[in-house]
Amino acid sequence: MRSTDPLQSSSAASPCEVRHLSKRYGTHTVVDDLTFSIPRNHVVGLIGPNGAGKTTTMKMLLGLVRPTGGDISLLGRTIGEPRWGDVLNRVGSMIEEPPIYDRLTARQNLQYQCLAVDGAIDDAEVDELLRLVDLAHRADDRPRGYSLGMRQRLGIAITLVGQPDLVILDEPGNGLDPAGIIEIRQLMGRLPETGTTVLVSSHQLAEVQQACDQLIILADGRTVAQGTTAEILSGRTQHIFHVTVDNTETQQTGDVLRAAGLAVTEQIGTTFVIEPPPEVGGRDLNRLLAAADVYASSINQPVASLEDAFLDLVQQPDDTDNLTTPEVARS
Ligand code: ATP
Repeated sequence: MRSTDPLQSSSAASPCEVRHLSKRYGTHTVVDDLTFSIPRNHVVGLIGPNGAGKTTTMKMLLGLVRPTGGDISLLGRTIGEPRWGDVLNRVGSMIEEPPIYDRLTARQNLQYQCLAVDGAIDDAEVDELLRLVDLAHRADDRPRGYSLGMRQRLGIAITLVGQPDLVILDEPGNGLDPAGIIEIRQLMGRLPETGTTVLVSSHQLAEVQQACDQLIILADGRTVAQGTTAEILSGRTQHIFHVTVDNTETQQTGDVLRAAGLAVTEQIGTTFVIEPPPEVGGRDLNRLLAAADVYASSINQPVASLEDAFLDLVQQPDDTDNLTTPEVARS
């Protein structure tokens, strides 16, 4: 096991707090006055488009990039204070590529990491990690022949050696197929149960929304929103209704809605998308149609998705190319 500092391990305090963090390269500010606190035993998503500053932020948290300004407290130590690096022994990380030696088997990779972290091999821990990431059946194969998803899972297992208090994962779903994304997500979801807090970066919204219970949204190096998905979405319900009617009643429905002066913004098959004035609700629409002998099969007010919120918060004009919202990754 990694050496522990009882004061820190027993503390309910945040394993990572950042205040007014910034990073400049020349005149280019890539991280700009970030302040956030990661709650213990949660899976926290750091999301933003390509170039938003996610990797740079993670590298600063690990002491790999020197901040231009601000403070980082990692497991109770302020980065830069004497011997702050001692806490890195309790932080697992996977930035960019999984830290795998291709000439070693999966088991040997984990044994090697045990030696690096604890100075001794813990075979029970290695077996447990192989089971956790579902690689027990391939434990004695070299990872060269693994799929991308298996390599990512082995990489995560390596970061978990010594049961760290915090793991920092940079885009672990990158390049994975839907099944691989679901596996990584399920794996991350299990980690808080074992006392490991997760900070994971991604620009794949569906993945993040389902994997994380807290989100920090970055754009151009700044935090544009943070909180739970529900908090970020609150107040974003649009005043739009979807009214679906029977096939035989579409003509009449359109006539009734238009006669009442309601704006039909779109018609998709037998569903009308209506943006009524704020004082008009679903019951009013129902009553209006019923008075004309049209009985809607459904009247819904769609809830804004994280994708909508994200685009509102970070979108530059003509900048939708680097946001991926895979339809996959739903288990
Ligand atoms: P991605 O999703 O593409 O990985 P990101 O959100 O992780 O993006 P970063 O990799 O942190 O973003 O990069 C943020 C900005 O900082 C980018 O404009 C990048 O070009 C710039 N940058 C990163 N490292 C350096 C460096 N060493 N020197 C100069 N600029 C850099």
